[in-house]
Amino acid sequence: MSNKNNEYAIYQAQLEHGSIPEIKKLAEQVYKMPSDNLEIQTEVARYWARQSDEMQSFLTRQQRDVEAWQLAGLSKLVDDAFTQVPFYRELYQKEGYELGCIKSFSDFKCLPIVNKKILSGVSESLRVSNASQLLQAHTLRTSGSSGVPFAVFRDDNYLKRDHAQCLRFYSNCLRTPLLESDWIYFIHHSGLLVSSMLGKYRIFQLPDLLPTTPLGQHLLLIKPRLLVVLPSYLPLLIAHKKEILDSGVEAVLVNSESSSCHERAYYSKLLELPIFDEYSSEEIGLMATQCLYSRYHFTEDSTYLEIINADENGFGAVVATDLKNAYMPMIRFDHGDLAKLHDSPSICQCGRSSMSLSEINGRRDDAFKTRDSTLIPSASLLAILDATLVDEDLSLVSYRLIQKTAEAVELLTVYKGQPYLPIAQIINSIEQQLSTLFGYKVTLTHQEVRALPEKKSYKRKSIVNEWSGV
Ligand SMILES: [Zn+2]
Repeated sequence: MSNKNNEYAIYQAQLEHGSIPEIKKLAEQVYKMPSDNLEIQTEVARYWARQSDEMQSFLTRQQRDVEAWQLAGLSKLVDDAFTQVPFYRELYQKEGYELGCIKSFSDFKCLPIVNKKILSGVSESLRVSNASQLLQAHTLRTSGSSGVPFAVFRDDNYLKRDHAQCLRFYSNCLRTPLLESDWIYFIHHSGLLVSSMLGKYRIFQLPDLLPTTPLGQHLLLIKPRLLVVLPSYLPLLIAHKKEILDSGVEAVLVNSESSSCHERAYYSKLLELPIFDEYSSEEIGLMATQCLYSRYHFTEDSTYLEIINADENGFGAVVATDLKNAYMPMIRFDHGDLAKLHDSPSICQCGRSSMSLSEINGRRDDAFKTRDSTLIPSASLLAILDATLVDEDLSLVSYRLIQKTAEAVELLTVYKGQPYLPIAQIINSIEQQLSTLFGYKVTLTHQEVRALPEKKSYKRKSIVNEWSGV
């Protein structure tokens, strides 16, 4: 773990804006990940060179082999967590856990389920395997969709595996494997952990897409093979269809917000390109990726997924275990998402025999809407709140942002102490950023409350649209 950085020695993908002023301006707004440094890029590149063939062949392994591999991984993860992580030691001790007792998936499924609320209630130093490394760990502070601030800590090993798994998915969405000279183009508020591997497998990122952004012009310069976008931007891509196809884009990937298969099929037809979805979260990373035949295949070498308490339609809670994160183990973690297992156990037409999901019905955050009905993605709203409200503040317990009318938004907060800045300053900053997103002046009012009102329809939601639109 290291934060060493050498700004001048690494390839600056964001400078490839082609001197197009609108692109340059947006590209400069991209948040630079602390992990995007020379040392991590070098490690990721080495890992990819060593592991990518084996990672690819993992996808077509016999299911029996995969299960044996996962069980060994789970057993070690739980034993290590029990030995090294005070939170799990106490939790599992109560259950009478003994080292080496995970010998089957049924044994594993007897372990208690945790969630963000439980983990947030435990001191950060008790959730990791070595508290003295906490300051050097890669930290992700997030509000997610539940409005409860939460921090996840990771080591370098996590970063390498996570990035490599994203690239494997991207490569498999293309007609032929991704080459090291290829570009991937993100239209997304959040990028990957590194922007290239020392100049190879480069990623250019725009944090937002405006109706006036000359995207097509830039795509013709960059010639990316893949677009990674928020589903809310799919309608805006249509205006750039010709340049998208002329520049050689072979597929579009969506993530972060839920999109329906109808929506994806509709835009896929209009764009004449396949659109793939992924199921991932900030806390766990990539969990399942969609293939050409619409199944969401589990990323079985990174996570172990369970669907529990399924209802009569097959929808149950997603409980995930992160096989990559040994530093802050996430074992049987309930996201609050709902998903349905694919009911056919047969091998998919894509050749994979992994477990898969047929539908994901989670994270139904309401996007906000401007007075001319343009959608403001909930992910863009969360990005503002994460940066302004959540990042610095450990006294924030929860919040909810509610759109009341075309021009009025309300913020409810629950603090357990003083905010990190005077609240008026925080509100003013959020109000300005909202106005930029909306394209006109939006008024933000604030109320500090003892608890967020529990409403069944949007329990767990931190972004709520109460305005029915025009
Ligand atoms: Zn498939």
